[in-house]
Amino acid sequence: MNVVNPATGETVETYETDDEADVVTALDHAESTFESWRKRPQRDREELLVSAAEILRERQSEYAELITREMGKPITQAESEIEKCAWVCEHYAEYASTYLEDEYHPSPAGTEVKTSYEPLGPIFAVMPWNFPFWQVFRFAAPNLVAGNVGLLKHASSVPGCALAIEEVFRDAGFPENAFQTLLVSSDLVEDVIDDDRVKATTLTGSGPAGSAVAAASGERIKKSVLELGGSDPFVVLDDADLETTIEKGVRARNQNSGQSCIAAKRFIVHDDVYDEFVSGLVEGAASLTVGDPTDPETDVGPQASAELLAELHDQVERSVAAGATVETGGEPLDRDGAFYPPTVLTDVPDDSPAARDELFGPVAAVFRVDDESEAMARANDTRFGLGGSVWTTDRERGERLAHEIEAGCVYVNRVVGSDPRVPFGGVGVSGFGRELSEAGIKEFVNRKTIWVQ
Ligand code: NAP
Repeated sequence: MNVVNPATGETVETYETDDEADVVTALDHAESTFESWRKRPQRDREELLVSAAEILRERQSEYAELITREMGKPITQAESEIEKCAWVCEHYAEYASTYLEDEYHPSPAGTEVKTSYEPLGPIFAVMPWNFPFWQVFRFAAPNLVAGNVGLLKHASSVPGCALAIEEVFRDAGFPENAFQTLLVSSDLVEDVIDDDRVKATTLTGSGPAGSAVAAASGERIKKSVLELGGSDPFVVLDDADLETTIEKGVRARNQNSGQSCIAAKRFIVHDDVYDEFVSGLVEGAASLTVGDPTDPETDVGPQASAELLAELHDQVERSVAAGATVETGGEPLDRDGAFYPPTVLTDVPDDSPAARDELFGPVAAVFRVDDESEAMARANDTRFGLGGSVWTTDRERGERLAHEIEAGCVYVNRVVGSDPRVPFGGVGVSGFGRELSEAGIKEFVNRKTIWVQ
């Protein structure tokens, strides 16, 4: 696996991939480790997560630099990502026992009936490059503490991150093979799912990859969780506080250089505030610092690869050919590396890529609406259903509309985010199942009924 630094286009590292025999060995280890790991007291497992958090904080700069080198994330955002991983470890260290407590049910006199939550075994995770630590930790922390063991197939562009995550758990004192990285291409994914020792799968990534993993899992009667793409609406009502809303809108679209599943992608703006909002969004986007991701002053780094940049630009060109207007940006930067400027499109036709598909880069599509009901119709005119936000000074109105948006989460006057304390996941083609919070830790456990007569 070649690691290409997307800021320079240079190959910076090459890793030997694992072959079929290595995968079989990893599965053997996973199975034997699970038998002892599941019997470890819950408290031990929680303490090891606290150690993992400590290691992440100690090595924050080192790991942040690794993320930036492999996928181009601006360094300050990479540092925040490592901090968030420490947080999810601490969260589950603190709450796992409560989340997994036995649940007692009403039952006939003289009987005791409960549900207990028991681990399933080796869980196979297929993960993307865009938050190369966070996506993995939000899977690994709840599953390891619940007594499962983890196998990771990370995106081929971030093998260094994949190995570093394995190192975190090993150095924290987890059993040697409680969390293993397989450096394999996606061709071997189905073979891993096919192995009887793998009990369930989880994938974060694109629709086609999700479909392949869910189909292979379903064929073998294995549960899967899918966290897929999004085209989140960012709904600006006539009573929004425009100064704040513009500032948050710029951030919501351009975070992680625009490569976030829950980035605001479709800006749906009430006619009364449309002109002011668009001019603020354009000004904000154009004022972001695009460039060297190792510079702490950089807001937007490169796209994660030249191929991804080409795909994004093709979507923009097709949208423009269909009638969209480029208000700012719209052309790759003429320099080394995969740099695309923050871009704002207006007059976006309904059947263009900017309206229909996910634009996984710093490109905002803006739509004008006349009223609330048109805003809701537009927000829901999508196959995706990951997140959404509503911007209004009337909190009750915001909450009412939040119920009308078909998505896994809707934030009122706040940029959509993920947080260990609350469930995260989508509806529609954004996937199924939930990660994080109590919902996340209960995805891959056996909810066992025990009836004692
Ligand atoms: P991707 O191309 O689907 O890759 C994700 C993972 O799936 C990688 O490990 C990839 O391996 C593997 N993969 C690709 N095709 C596969 C196949 N046919 N069978 C089995 N595995 C396969 O996605 P990406 O470009 O890395 O990530 C961007 C996408 O992820 C966006 O759509 C984004 O919205 C979504 N995403 C969703 C969430 C969420 O929480 N809902 C979070 C982040 C990202 P290789 O690298 O070896 O191809």
